[in-house]
Amino acid sequence: MVSVEKEKIDLPLVSELMIPSEKVAHVQLGNPLEHALLVLVKSGYSAVPVLDQSYKFKGIISKTKILEETLGMEQFELDHLSDIQVSEIMEKNIPCLEQTDNMLDALHKLIDHPFVCVTKENGEFDGIVTRRTILKQFSKHYHETLKRA
Ligand code: AMP
Repeated sequence: MVSVEKEKIDLPLVSELMIPSEKVAHVQLGNPLEHALLVLVKSGYSAVPVLDQSYKFKGIISKTKILEETLGMEQFELDHLSDIQVSEIMEKNIPCLEQTDNMLDALHKLIDHPFVCVTKENGEFDGIVTRRTILKQFSKHYHETLKRA
């Protein structure tokens, strides 16, 4: 936690809020879209991180992007999904966090994304922080504050 002295608020750090990498579903750069779709459908997530072979974070692949790709073809042929690699259509310009960032840093980045990836200095994937986690923190904080008022 870091203390914001004036407000007397203890802000949790990203390290305390994140889901660690070993619990995060991911796909690899070279995986075909067919595999990515399977991971997304089976896990129930709308998007997952994309990593390279040395576990570095490279982007995000979503059901929406895969669907867009499918609809862009002449016919609606799911077979084509095995010919296209995740790296060809993933989103690359994604903001990241580091473990030493605090909850407000996470909040700002989560306004436009349902989850944000946490990386190490060398770009290695460390985990994710989700909107759900941050909303739970705010809910807890306000309930506690209201109880004391
Ligand atoms: P949530 O806020 O828990 O609904 O999660 C929002 C999004 O974060 C999900 O739709 C996924 O894209 C991603 N996510 C959450 N948990 C995981 C996980 N364990 N593995 C991969 N992606 C996740």
